[in-house]
This record gives sequence, C-alpha cells and structure tokens, in this order.
Amino acid sequence: MKIERISEQVWSLSTWVIIPIHVWAVVEKDGITLVDAGISMMTKGIAEFAEKRLGLPLRRIVLTHGHGDHTGAVKKLAERYPDVTVYAHEIEIPYMEGKLAYPGRKKPQQSVAPGLAKPLPAAADGTLARVGGLSAHLTPGHSPGHVVYFHEADGVMLAGDLFTSKGGRLRKPMPMFTSDMAEAVRSSEIVRQLRPSRLEVCHGGAVLNPADQLDAYQRSQGFAGGGGGGGVSLQR
Ligand SMILES: [Zn+2]
Ligand SMILES: [Zn+2]
Repeated sequence: MKIERISEQVWSLSTWVIIPIHVWAVVEKDGITLVDAGISMMTKGIAEFAEKRLGLPLRRIVLTHGHGDHTGAVKKLAERYPDVTVYAHEIEIPYMEGKLAYPGRKKPQQSVAPGLAKPLPAAADGTLARVGGLSAHLTPGHSPGHVVYFHEADGVMLAGDLFTSKGGRLRKPMPMFTSDMAEAVRSSEIVRQLRPSRLEVCHGGAVLNPADQLDAYQRSQGFAGGGGGGGVSLQR
C-alpha cells in the first residue's frame, strides 16, 4: 500500500488492482476519520497505518458512496474497532444494503451489512452536518447518494467517484458504474462553490486548483449550465 501525506492533516493510502484505489485518513483532535474504505485487502494496511505510523485511534469511517471498491474494508475495520461509526448519505444506504438496485443495474447488491452505516447527520433542509474537520456535500449522479468531503483548513476535496483524473486533468466518472452521467456532471459545480486547492479522486491522481478547469470539463461533457455565474443549484 502506498502512503502519502498530501496536506497538513490529510493522508492518502492507495493500492492498485487494475485501477488505482485510494482512501484518505484525516487527522482529527480525537483520532482518525477514514474517508472511504477501499477493498478488503486494504484492511491491514489501514489499521497498521493508524496504529503504528500515526498512533491514533480510528474514530469513524465516512463513505462517499456504497460501491464495493469504496466499502471493502468496512466490515473488518468495524470488527477490529467496535466503537467506530460508519456514515453514508441516507439516500445511498438502501443501495449499499442491497435493498435497492443501483440505477442501471439489474440486481440489488449488498456491500455493507444492514444497520452498520448510519445516515450522515443533516439539518431539516438537507444540509449535511460537519464530520470532524470535514464538510459533507451531496453530489448525486455517479450514485444517487454520492457525497464529497471537503477539508476546509487544508483546502483538500476528497471527491470519491465524482470524477476520475488523468495527468492532473478532471475526467468523467467511469460510465459503466455511473447511475446518471448528466447529473454527475451537474454535481461538479461543487468545485466552483468550494474552490479546493487540491482535489483527490478514488481512481486517479490529484488535480490541483480544479476550479480552473471546470468550465473545460463541463463543456467537454456537453454541460452548459456553468460558466462562473455562481448560484447554480445542485437540487434536482
Ligand atoms: Zn463508484
Ligand atoms: Zn469507485
């Protein structure tokens, strides 16, 4: 497993199985928040990184979405650390629990045991509460309840599968696994709103100052709603 410190408080842990798979460890006052849980074989590496390299307890796991390449280590990590809380967006939970089939898929598939993931706390208007040093933002499209997490203090956005990337450029998420590509492209507006200095994706390298290339990305995907006007609604 490759380990890289990408900012003051955020570490990237990754492996490569046909494609790169990243998870992120965020150092908080009370321990570590893990963003996404990769694949099952990353469990030991994640635990050893937390225990030996940082010497901090794993406090919570926050998921960008429920696909199997983002939830693989959840089960074993939850067994190893019974106090860890797992969060995902409430829209996403029935899909990951195998109660609903992801749009475009024939069958429901369970990636996380029912009851294990709790809904991210939200206000009445749907605004998601902060989780430690991270703000959480619903960005549907790749999956119905996809969420990105933003570490404001470090300017780092952990964007899951909202994008892929190549050579430091934003690329669309993998079409085969994306529920609604047009919606995913609309959700990329979050980059203009939050203006991270660094954006991380699960299946690719980092993208620096991604807002600078957002118009080009959206144009390449046939999206005409951007253009710096601001205030573009993320609501469906
Ligand atoms: Zn995915
Ligand atoms: Zn993925």
